[in-house]
Amino acid sequence: MNFKVNQDLCIGCGACEEICPEVFELVDDKSQVKLNPVPEEFQESALDAENGCPVQAISH
Ligand code: SF4
Repeated sequence: MNFKVNQDLCIGCGACEEICPEVFELVDDKSQVKLNPVPEEFQESALDAENGCPVQAISH
């Protein structure tokens, strides 16, 4: 499963990194996916991060 962060939508709130630091990392106040494809063991928390994004910037 591959995840994407829409850089135009991301407001740099940090929620995704807090929920799933294995996959999401803030760089210059924008979230980036540092691990694609996302390994099985992190997919659930990556999905939680997607659902927790306040501006729906994360997709898969
Ligand atoms: S939760 Fe959404 S808005 Fe917040 S840093 Fe992550 S991608 Fe950006």
